[in-house]
Amino acid sequence: MPIFFEPAEVIGDLKEFRSVLIVSCPICPPMCVSIQQKSPFLQPLKHGLKTPAFEDYIASIREALAGHGVRSEAFTLRLPVPMMCLWTARQRARILKRAQGFDAVLVLGCDSATYTAADALRGTGCKVFQGMEVKTITNATTALGPSATVTLDWHPLPKTPKSGQFNGPDWGEKSQSTRR
Ligand code: SF4
Repeated sequence: MPIFFEPAEVIGDLKEFRSVLIVSCPICPPMCVSIQQKSPFLQPLKHGLKTPAFEDYIASIREALAGHGVRSEAFTLRLPVPMMCLWTARQRARILKRAQGFDAVLVLGCDSATYTAADALRGTGCKVFQGMEVKTITNATTALGPSATVTLDWHPLPKTPKSGQFNGPDWGEKSQSTRR
């Protein structure tokens, strides 16, 4: 289920550490940054499976940390399960191994992604922070363009989705009025 985020201010908390591993979920976070930056989700011929705007976002966090003398690295896993909320036991064990030598982990993902990291690092001294704030669930139409470029046409949902019938007349008005 796609989650829509806004970045959380975490540099203030992280600048006290010597090292931070940035662990990102490769599904909703790059989708959101792609939508917010109005840039392609994927350009496989140029960037493989990485979302350029999301890579820039991670780089900006690393740059801010470096400005405070904090060493950082970035880490994610796409196989066998890309959604961090559903990572296998082996993928969770990979976080534990990868986080060795880091004082803190910054999760770019939802509360469930953060739980995955916190659970994997339970009992270690590594502190886990969530770097994105969940705003709502969302929806987008995925489109395939030239050179296999993948773009997302965003459809913001009403702030208070209704249970029961979803496509009533007032829902349509609210949804249209919030579109870009
Ligand atoms: S962990 Fe959260 S951010 Fe990642 S795919 Fe699951 S719901 Fe989306």
